[in-house]
Amino acid sequence: MENFVYNANPGRVIFGSGTISRLGEEAERLGAKCVLVLSTPEQAGQAEDIARHLGSRVAGIYSKAQMHTPVDVTSDAMRTVERLDADALVSIGGGSTTGLGKAIAYRTDLPQIVVPTTYAGSEATPILGETEGGRKVTKSDPRILPEVIVYDVDLTLSLPVALSVTSGINAIAHAVEALYAREANPIVSMMAEEGIAAIARALPLIQANPQDRGARADALYGAWLCGVCLGSVGMALHHKLCHTLGGMFNLPHAPMHTAVLPHAVAYNSKAAPASMARISRALGGGEPALALYDLAKRLGAVMSLQDLGMPANSVGDAVEQAMSNAYWNPRALEKKALSELLELAYRGDAPA
Ligand code: NAD
Repeated sequence: MENFVYNANPGRVIFGSGTISRLGEEAERLGAKCVLVLSTPEQAGQAEDIARHLGSRVAGIYSKAQMHTPVDVTSDAMRTVERLDADALVSIGGGSTTGLGKAIAYRTDLPQIVVPTTYAGSEATPILGETEGGRKVTKSDPRILPEVIVYDVDLTLSLPVALSVTSGINAIAHAVEALYAREANPIVSMMAEEGIAAIARALPLIQANPQDRGARADALYGAWLCGVCLGSVGMALHHKLCHTLGGMFNLPHAPMHTAVLPHAVAYNSKAAPASMARISRALGGGEPALALYDLAKRLGAVMSLQDLGMPANSVGDAVEQAMSNAYWNPRALEKKALSELLELAYRGDAPA
């Protein structure tokens, strides 16, 4: 075995079905008396439902969270935090709501309880990406890491199939890149392989029956493991490409990850053979890039960046930007090969 360094993030995780009923207890454990509940506008009803579990500890609900954590929304939410003199945050939703909670915690150090309802995994990381003036800036800080995660499988049953698929593959992307990360280590790799396998076996069952609680539990468990991977080691080419494309063209987060991942894996496949063997095993065999492409396509995901909103003739600019301040990657970044990669993803063709 090679030498390694393993950094664990602290955190308390409650996992299961019906676990939302423990929200009051968890708030009490944190000593919270004045909780602000956060959500997107679409999940305002769900936020009201779960607020009931907090009883008299609820100070208010702020349901204007948005994708990519715009700083003006955070500033608006901060006024509510101050007006209510909130002493804790409960974020219910996907990465967008979790992002708002993290942005407030970064500014106030308030404790956070996150109730994730997608597979984005943000709840398990000390990372925050905020947007201001069309630029997304990422920071990492211990204040950003949520204190408690309450995973309630029941709250994921309403996640539409299309978003379940792309959100699940977004999670797989965290684990894939953790396997070939510069800081890879045996513990995180174990979680990564288990996370990929849990999600890959759950997604077809969720597509067949979105109310399948066993499959939903597998997917949520896998999403947690993949989120831990994202929060523990550095990411590589795939995340750099998605960060670039998301920032330049405001493409939808999880669908964009789904369309890019098979191509990033193909690009790195020869440079990271041991990781590829583990990805293949987790996916049930086959060449990993093609297996990921086939899985996503079979589940109905849109595989063309053009169809997701990437403008024509923009590959060159995207490659230039991705190569500036590049992340570490197992294979050196080569302009021609990256252009070919993005051209394939633009058209939605299979990885080469
Ligand atoms: P999202 O949070 O934007 O959710 C998409 C939509 O689905 C929203 O309208 C949401 O309200 C709705 N939704 C969520 N769960 C639902 C449910 N169970 N039932 C019905 N509707 C539901 O999407 P996402 O993909 O989870 O998050 C994307 C954002 O998270 C991006 O801004 C991304 O940058 C960020 N992110 C950050 C990290 C990190 O570590 N910092 C990690 C992953 C993602």
